[in-house]
Amino acid sequence: AEEVGGGDKDVVKEYFNNSGFQRWKKIYGETDDVNRVQRDIRLGHSKTVENVMAMLKDEGPLRGVTVCDAGCGTGSLSIPLAKEGAKVFASDISAAMVAEAEKKAKEEVKGGVMPKFEVKDLESLEGKYDTVVCLDVLIHYPQNKADGMIAHLASLAEKRLIISFAPKTFYYDLLKRVGELFPGPSKATRAYLHSEADVETALRRVGWKIRKRGLISTQFYFATLVEAVPA
Ligand code: SAM
Repeated sequence: AEEVGGGDKDVVKEYFNNSGFQRWKKIYGETDDVNRVQRDIRLGHSKTVENVMAMLKDEGPLRGVTVCDAGCGTGSLSIPLAKEGAKVFASDISAAMVAEAEKKAKEEVKGGVMPKFEVKDLESLEGKYDTVVCLDVLIHYPQNKADGMIAHLASLAEKRLIISFAPKTFYYDLLKRVGELFPGPSKATRAYLHSEADVETALRRVGWKIRKRGLISTQFYFATLVEAVPA
C-alpha cells in the first residue's frame, strides 16, 4: 500500500538534503562528471526550463512580475527569471538545495532582482503571486497528495500556474528505465507518475483550466508541462 501523509515528505526532505542533493546538484549543474543517463536528464530538464521561460515571456516582459518557484531546487528556473527582472520567491523543502540556489544566484544574477530564498515546503507557502511555477516536484508524491498540492498552489496564483510532472502514459517505458534512473529500493527515490486527466481534474475542482500543454522528452526524461489559468 502507498503510504501518504507526513511520512513521504520527511523521507523526501531527508533525501534532498543528503544523497539526493549531491545527485541532483550534479545533474542540474554544468560539470562533466555525469554519466550518460544523468547527461540526458540534464538535457531534458533544461528543455523544460527553456519552455517555461518561453511560456512566461509570451505574455510580455517579466520585469516586475511576481513569480513563486515552489520546490526551486538549485535555482535552474529562478535564476533566469531573476535575470529578466521578475520578482522571484524561491523556496524548497531542502535547506541544502536553497543554499546552493542562493550561492548560484549571487554569482550569476548581475542585473535584475535577486530572488528571495526560503526553506519551506510548498504546503506552507502563503501569499499571492502573478504566477506560480512548480517543476518536477510532483514525481515525489502519489496522486492523492498531489491533488492537495495542486489546489494549494492554485490558491497562491493570481494569473497562472505552471506545473511539470512525469506523465503516466510512459509508465511501462519508464519502469524499464527506472532501475537505471533511481537505483536502490529506497522509498525516497520512488517515482510517482501522474496522468494528465488526474492533474486536470484537480485543477478543475478548484476552478482552473489548462490553457497550454506540452510534452518534453529525451531518452530518460519525460515531463508533461501544463499552463493553467482561472476558468
Ligand atoms: N524545480 C526544480 C527544478 O526543476 O530545477 C527542482 C526539481 S527536483 C527534481 C525536486 C525538488 O523538489 C527538490 O529540490 C526537492 O527538495 C523539492 N521538494 C520535494 N518535495 C517538496 C515539497 N513538499 N515542498 C517543497 N519542495 C519540495
